[in-house]
Amino acid sequence: MALKVFPMKCVACCACEMACGYYHDQAFNTLSSSIIVHRSLEKKNYFGLMVKRPEDILIGRPEGVEAKRPGDFSGGGGGGSASAKPILIRPTCDLCGNAENYNCVMVCPTGALVKE
Ligand code: SF4
Ligand code: SF4
Repeated sequence: MALKVFPMKCVACCACEMACGYYHDQAFNTLSSSIIVHRSLEKKNYFGLMVKRPEDILIGRPEGVEAKRPGDFSGGGGGGSASAKPILIRPTCDLCGNAENYNCVMVCPTGALVKE
């Protein structure tokens, strides 16, 4: 099972961050979220998604989706400098403990996140 991201469907509502933070911390704290909506300072209306996974960081941008090793990652990474949140202190996505469905998927209003 895995979490798949479709960045072109994302509208940056941040509901997934809230839902994931709640899963990890029983509180609406985005710093406790494994999934991050990142935005660019350089480009207007440019944003994407990052997911901190056990082995890498999944980065979904309008240009496509790629996985980067934590060592390759600096700050917002992948053009997300405007939201350079400290991803290294975030909890790792554990696929909601292999639950029947994932919190982030359940709240995403656009189908940008899919369990597969
Ligand atoms: S699958 Fe669960 S742990 Fe992983 S990013 Fe989504 S809500 Fe967070
Ligand atoms: S909930 Fe869906 S649309 Fe909203 S920020 Fe997350 S991935 Fe994007």
